[in-house]
Amino acid sequence: MTRHPIGKTTATRRQFLRSTVAAVTTASVVAPLADADENPKQDDAIPIIDCHLHINHMGRSVKDTITHIRATGTKRAFILPLETGEGGVLLKSQTVLDAYREYPDEIIPFCQSNVRKPDVLERIMTYHRLGCRGVGEQKEHLPLNDPRIDKLIALCDELDWPITIHFQDGKGGYNQGIAEHLEKYLKKYQKVRIIGHAQSWWAHISAEVPPPEKTLYPTGPVKPGGLIDRLLADYPNLYADLSAGSGYNALTRDKDFTAGFLERHHRKLLFGSDCPCRDGKGANFRGVCYSMRLQKFLRSMVDDPTKLANIFYHNAMRVLGEA
Ligand SMILES: [Zn+2]
Ligand SMILES: [Zn+2]
Repeated sequence: MTRHPIGKTTATRRQFLRSTVAAVTTASVVAPLADADENPKQDDAIPIIDCHLHINHMGRSVKDTITHIRATGTKRAFILPLETGEGGVLLKSQTVLDAYREYPDEIIPFCQSNVRKPDVLERIMTYHRLGCRGVGEQKEHLPLNDPRIDKLIALCDELDWPITIHFQDGKGGYNQGIAEHLEKYLKKYQKVRIIGHAQSWWAHISAEVPPPEKTLYPTGPVKPGGLIDRLLADYPNLYADLSAGSGYNALTRDKDFTAGFLERHHRKLLFGSDCPCRDGKGANFRGVCYSMRLQKFLRSMVDDPTKLANIFYHNAMRVLGEA
């Protein structure tokens, strides 16, 4: 019964957003904030999937990870292992599967294994049989065009799976060469859902990307025509993971640009936190919870409940093949 007025407002707001984006004024940022406050119940009804969480993140236990999921109003979360621990978090796929058996309602188990080992594909297939839903987080010190990464993406394509990739250019980075190599995979493998994450992924929201040695977290106005803006529009098999400091930095550096980006790609963006805090309040993490901070920001930017529901929930279901 409340459908009609919501639908009506949505259409009006959509037109409003489109016109303000075209006008590139700060009004597009301020107005949805006021609207969201008028109707907080609409947003509260939207279920949330966090597409990026780790157990063992800053020593967080399984129990505290579940506490984080519940405290942040999250329904379910992709739990991503990192078997080589190259980024500082070491989490075995088996630990994720064990946690999944204990908390099947909250945990969506992903798997990951050392791609340098000759039996990696067999391991991944075993995790597939054991109930894992995708590969990630793929974060090893290898260039993106390494043949072993190609084989891993090919297997995900065969399994009809998503893969979450940490893109970080420069020395000591991971999957370097996003600008040179990502599009080749998108063309070659069309079933796999590639989920882009981390610094160099987000630096390419802008057409102007500083060298990684200078900064991995560029700030200031976004120059339209960035790589990921184009690839997200052109390839149905590409998605973006909004998590971590990199996602938040990219979305908040130029809010007028972000309004249009959210509008263009609301069917391709996945809410995620990569938050290491234990209580949803950031008690052990400088008082910041990445999940709560991003939820608040997205609610302030996206006033159309349908689009917000895509970002918070439905896109995650789509990459899992559940929608
Ligand atoms: Zn992560
Ligand atoms: Zn948190």
